[in-house]
Order: sequence, then C-alpha cells, then structure tokens
Amino acid sequence: VKHVVVVGAGLAGVRSVEALRARGFAGRITLIGQERHRPYDRPPLSKAVLLGDADSSFVDTDLSALEVDFWAGVSAKALRDGAVETTEGDLGYDGLVIATGAEPITLPGDGPQHVLRTLDDAHELRALLVPGARVAVIGAGWIGAEVATAARRAGCAVTVIEAGEAPLAHALGPELGARTTGWYEGVDLRLGTMVHEVREGGVELVGGEFVDAHVVVTGIGVRPAVEWLASAEIDLHNGVVTDEHLRTSLPNVVAAGDCAAWWSRRFQSRLRVEHWDTALHAPEVAAATLLGEDAVYDPVPYFWSEQFGHMLQYAGHHPAGERLVYRGEPEGKWSACWLTAGDTLAAVLAVDRPRDLVQGRRIIEAGHRLDAERLVDPDVALRDC
Ligand code: FAD
Repeated sequence: VKHVVVVGAGLAGVRSVEALRARGFAGRITLIGQERHRPYDRPPLSKAVLLGDADSSFVDTDLSALEVDFWAGVSAKALRDGAVETTEGDLGYDGLVIATGAEPITLPGDGPQHVLRTLDDAHELRALLVPGARVAVIGAGWIGAEVATAARRAGCAVTVIEAGEAPLAHALGPELGARTTGWYEGVDLRLGTMVHEVREGGVELVGGEFVDAHVVVTGIGVRPAVEWLASAEIDLHNGVVTDEHLRTSLPNVVAAGDCAAWWSRRFQSRLRVEHWDTALHAPEVAAATLLGEDAVYDPVPYFWSEQFGHMLQYAGHHPAGERLVYRGEPEGKWSACWLTAGDTLAAVLAVDRPRDLVQGRRIIEAGHRLDAERLVDPDVALRDC
C-alpha cells in the first residue's frame, strides 16, 4: 500500500490516520473532509458547547506531524475502482478508509428546522437559546434530551415532542425510558405525539394541533452518510457492510465509525453503533486490516449521555427479550441490567453509578453468570453478584 485515502475527517477519520502512522505506515495519506474545520469531537457539542462552557472541541492531534495531506471542505462524490471522485477532482488510492459518519434525519415542512451534528450547528443553536425563547425539541432520544437540558438551563420555554411512549424508548425500551420522565420537570413533555410537519413559527402535530416555537430542533436520529457510495459496487445495508476485520466487500477498502455495520463475533450479529467509543477504537483495527495484519474488532460497545444533571452510561448490547433487573429506585442513583436466559449480563445502564458501569463492562466481557437475587440490591457491588 503506497497511498491511503481516508474519506471523512471526523473522529474515525483522524484516528485512522493516527493508527496508520502508529503502525509504521510511511506512505502517502490524504484525508478528505466535507467540513471546513479540522477534526473535532461531537459529544461536547450538545453539552459544554451548547451550554456555553466551551467554544470548540478540536481533537488533540498534530496533522502536520502526521504528514497527512488534509483536504478540508472537500466532498467525496463517488467511488470507482481505485479512485475517489471528489469535488476537487479524482484521487487514486491503493487503500481506502470510509469514515463518513452519519447525518441527521429531518422532518417534512418548510419551516426553519435546526439539527445538531456539526460545530457550526452548535454555534447557531447556542445563539438562539436565550431566556424566554420558545424551543420545540422533536425527539426525546439522546440528542433531544441533551438539547432540552441546555435549553432549560438557558431559561427557554421548552416543549419536547416524542412519538414513543417514553423518552429514550427507541434506544432503551419504554419501561426503562419511563424512569427518566420525572427528569423533564419544567419541560412540556408530549409523549406519544407525532409531528406532521415543521412550519414557520412552530410545529404542526398529526391531528392538526400547532405548537408555537421560535426555535425548532429536530433530534429524531441519523442515517449513515453513504449516499456518495450509491453507484459503487460495494455492499451497503444500514451503512457500509464489513466483516469482523472491518473489511468491506471491495478489496483494500475498510470502514469505521458511525457509517460501518460490522460483524460482531461476540454478539453473533451485525452491529452499527453510533457512538464515540466506536469511532475512537475501530480505526485501530481498520488500519491494521488495511496493512495486511490480522486484527478483529469485537468490543463491548459503550456510550454515555449527560442529561438533566444525570450521567448515563451504557455498555453491552441487548437484543429484545432480555430480562431487565433494576438496582435502586428511579428517584435516586440506579442501574439497569439486561440478563440473558442463561443469567449472563448482556448490557448495563448506569445512572449516576459509574462503578456499576465499570464492573458491568468487565462482567460482560468475561461472560460471567450473575445471581439475579443479589443483583437487585444496589448495596451489593455488581462484581459480587
Ligand atoms: P462523524 O463524526 O459523523 O464524522 C464524519 C465526517 O465525515 C463528518 O465531518 C462529515 O462531514 C464527513 N463526511 C461525510 N460525508 C462525506 C463525504 N462524502 N466526503 C467528505 N467528507 C464527508 N457519542 C457518545 O458515545 N456519547 C455522547 O455523549 C455523544 N454525544 C453526541 C452529541 C452530538 C451532538 C453528536 C452529533 C454526536 C454525539 N455522539 C456521542 C456520537 C459520536 O459523536 C459519533 O458516534 C462520532 O462522532 C462518530 O464519528 P465518525 O468519525 O464515525 O463520524
């Protein structure tokens, strides 16, 4: 491999460059990024940056020391055999890393609709979160809950519109999500409510009711940013399909981060995880694979969210049907454990209980069985259950 092209200059992209160099790759690297910014972390955008505690979150890396040719503000348009078509012309490669991440889904309607994906989005939105502003947040998922938190802190009048029967229902299930409903005190939380369209001055709900808003923020999820690959002979299904080595269906092409749907040995299923930890670590495997080493990506997925003064941390993967066991009451600090039929731990969610997260993650990794009766006692350490 002489020339590696990395498409997407987010965390997965820049980590791929670092991993290639760390493994001794001395050839040419070109990093292509649609945004004009150098690589930055997104988690702070809905936290410190939106709250006004920070202005940026650039990744601490030295692109010139990495000897990478960084094409900022350039988009990949298509992929042909051995070449990427970009807005600045064609670029040949011997190795390719696809790290184009994901992009927000928006709703119908011609009213102004904000999303929160980029640093520019965060700055735009922050300027609008002023005392007394009426803010409608569509979606009570991770982004919606964090935006609602910041908007409340800024003194806005916040309405959160959620189609599901509880916040976070889509990610964690309605029963667990319902445990967070109390956190929405002071927010007009509309559950089981569908949006028809976003119009000038607010949101029209299905059924005709109109919710007035100066600012509408849509946080209903993302889709993998793979449109540019539509005409390529590459397997796409809910993102770029890869094997456990993060190899795509094309030779010398790997994928990592939000855009990649990889085969998980551990969970015997295909996973696409839209979280920071994956973008941080998967590139090590992607780079190794590209350089011909035998590496496997098989993590226990991890993520966190900070909302309404609470720290939520999740590790694992829980397909539907696992048994839920709670540790602690919803009013205080608590955790939830998903147990398999064989009483091993499939996943853990810790709310303000970081030890449960750390210990739970190790238990999942080791595949230990747990005693469900001891588990319900929050005073018994998870590792002693
Ligand atoms: P991205 O970060 O999406 O980067 C991909 C880059 O590729 C983008 O800059 C994009 O512009 C560029 N690109 C796309 N298409 C092209 C193209 N055709 N040509 C050139 N460039 C292209 N995760 C957590 O675990 N915890 C959190 O608390 C958390 N908070 C978050 C808060 C916000 C507001 C957001 C948006 C995400 C949050 N995440 C969080 C998720 C986490 O940030 C993502 O999983 C991570 O950014 C994925 O990194 P990535 O490099 O795969 O993709």
